[in-house]
Amino acid sequence: VGAFTLVVHGGAGDHRPETLAAREAALTRALDRGWAILAAGGTALDACQEAIVELEDEPVFDAGLGAHLNRDGRVELDAILMDGATLAAGAVGAVERIRNPILLARRILADGRHILIAGAGAELFAIEHGMSLCNPGELITDSERARWRESKAQASHGTVGAVACDATGSIAAGTSTGGTFLKHPGRIGDSPLVGCGCYADNLSAAVSCTGHGESIMKVVMAKAAADLVATGHMPQAAADRALQVMTDRTGRNGGLILVDRTGAAGAAFSTAKMPWGIRNSAGLTQIQP
Ligand code: ASP
Repeated sequence: VGAFTLVVHGGAGDHRPETLAAREAALTRALDRGWAILAAGGTALDACQEAIVELEDEPVFDAGLGAHLNRDGRVELDAILMDGATLAAGAVGAVERIRNPILLARRILADGRHILIAGAGAELFAIEHGMSLCNPGELITDSERARWRESKAQASHGTVGAVACDATGSIAAGTSTGGTFLKHPGRIGDSPLVGCGCYADNLSAAVSCTGHGESIMKVVMAKAAADLVATGHMPQAAADRALQVMTDRTGRNGGLILVDRTGAAGAAFSTAKMPWGIRNSAGLTQIQP
């Protein structure tokens, strides 16, 4: 049995001090939930999925319940899961009635015909695959509604993600977000795009990104970081370098987490904060909320 590792994040940004305890508790729950799968010999893909469900359900993060509202006061969610063993991926963009978009991403991955399905079509896919839709209003919290009413343009924060390496040395990654605050209706960010907000390949690394989506897309940050691992960089060096390229080339900020198939991990961010946590089979647990 090889080393195994789970890393989770709660989004690059300017998280408020008053949500610190909630962030710490949620990161801990996400690590516990994903870890239970890895420790029982489960797959990195399942561990990422379950860790992300936990973070989507936590309102302080910008994913699932409590996501940022778009310009029109609606929640539109993006999510992706990618399996490094097969390069299979499933993703959704701009869905409004899915409580846990990462679970719909998983169904699309399992189905295998498509990688990214958006909007009403994705909701139809959910129904056709036995998932129930929620009322869009169920995802809107009072604090996000109040923030939208004030419409103070402020940086987005609170995308969630996970990367994992399981005991077989297979890796996976996932990312889920409500996107940027006051985004244009229909806008899809980096998060559900293979190579941008997420990437996983057993030959390189599993990566989940966060930050200014349009800038992450420009430098295809997740794939860039994975390629650095493939060419011999350690995960931490690859995370630092990929982020540096994005900040140098675009002037915008973000962050990422990364794991390779030996279970070695890296995390980097250029924003004020990026809550994240790691647990590995060497006995390390570290949470930086
Ligand atoms: N990258 C996400 C997006 O642009 C937002 C974030 O990570 O804060 O949709």
